[in-house]
Amino acid sequence: MPIFSSNIQVSVRVRPFSNREQCSNSRVIVELVDNTQLNLYNPKLEGNQTLHDHRDRYKQFTFDHCYLSLNRLDPNYASQQIIFNDAGMDVLKSFLEGYNTCILCYGQTGTGKTFTMMGNSNSEEMGLTPKICENLFKRIEESNNESSTLCFKTLISYMEIYNEKLRDLFDFDTQKTNNSFNNSNSSGKSLKIREHPNKGIYVQNLNQFPVTDLNTTMRYLAKGNQNRSTASTHVHDKSSRSHAIFTITFIQAKVDNEIPIEIISKLNLVDLAGSERASNDLIYNKKQLKEGSNINKSLVSLGNVISILAESSRKYQNGLSHSDFNLYKENAATSSNSNNEYKSSFVPYRDSLLTYLLKDSLGGNSKTHMIANISPASCCYHETLNTLLFAQRAK
Ligand code: ADP
Ligand code: MG
Repeated sequence: MPIFSSNIQVSVRVRPFSNREQCSNSRVIVELVDNTQLNLYNPKLEGNQTLHDHRDRYKQFTFDHCYLSLNRLDPNYASQQIIFNDAGMDVLKSFLEGYNTCILCYGQTGTGKTFTMMGNSNSEEMGLTPKICENLFKRIEESNNESSTLCFKTLISYMEIYNEKLRDLFDFDTQKTNNSFNNSNSSGKSLKIREHPNKGIYVQNLNQFPVTDLNTTMRYLAKGNQNRSTASTHVHDKSSRSHAIFTITFIQAKVDNEIPIEIISKLNLVDLAGSERASNDLIYNKKQLKEGSNINKSLVSLGNVISILAESSRKYQNGLSHSDFNLYKENAATSSNSNNEYKSSFVPYRDSLLTYLLKDSLGGNSKTHMIANISPASCCYHETLNTLLFAQRAK
């Protein structure tokens, strides 16, 4: 066992074939080696063994976990429950212990990000967000029944980042009446991210609602999602170009020796914009940078931030003596949730709204789980390769 594991876990989830892929005669090009390794075959080099030896025909990747869900009848089928048991429970545990946490789904549009985060309303196909909320409320109820001295409060907020503008999806009054909000070209106001010396990162004037049960939470989420989809009638495919961030803030309060103590932790559940835009935007960016065009900086910047965090965590693990490790643990224990990077490498959180918003949920003692969603089909080879390379940078 490593002395301590990296705080960024990376999983890959392969969804079943879509109807379109089935009709286009695409082949399966992803193969699991075991539950941490997968092979991606280059469809152009298939069957051409005289020119390319075996190694050229596929690339092997290793992650914390690889899930394949090609066929529901397959005994290894990665159901929503399995994803929750592995990724959701782990993050929920840290969140309840008072750490800031984050789950992100990354991948090409149509690969299952929203399915993974939200899923469908039937209990079999509930995604991570409703399952996490359900379990959170269950834990709170159990704790209340144990007549513990702790008091709990759960607050939710829901935001969208589109075109480097941050908007409140729970701002129900303004969005019904303010049509400019639905227009991507409008200069509609962007919420401001602020940093408080003690409280950390927060968004000014963001609506937060207290919740105590799953049904109410899901109703708020559905209303928030309506605000996203209303916008998409004005701009083609908008939800695939925006990041949706659902944040649960959990406050645990108690009185210890007559001193009131409050532990506040945040869980960010992030359905990222389709990653195919990142590469498109990169090209766009090179051409248009001087004119200051609006690009989707957030995905590129997320890649940079998590790869720097993963790198410094790796360096730290490699170069850590036993006494250093004890010192690290002491520091970590006394600075819960602070941005206590393993090394003093500069992390460019402020390069984009997304990374700035997630600053205190990505670095330091926080726990992050990134799920890279991919298609199994040969027609998606290039985007799948890009997604796996992106995910690999986080390891
Ligand atoms: P994205 O949000 O990445 O654009 P979606 O979550 O909307 O993709 O998924 C596209 C389609 O594929 C949806 O119809 C969804 O129900 C289906 N799908 C995605 N992942 C899975 C999966 N693991 N099992 C079954 N269906 C899936
Ligand atoms: Mg989606």
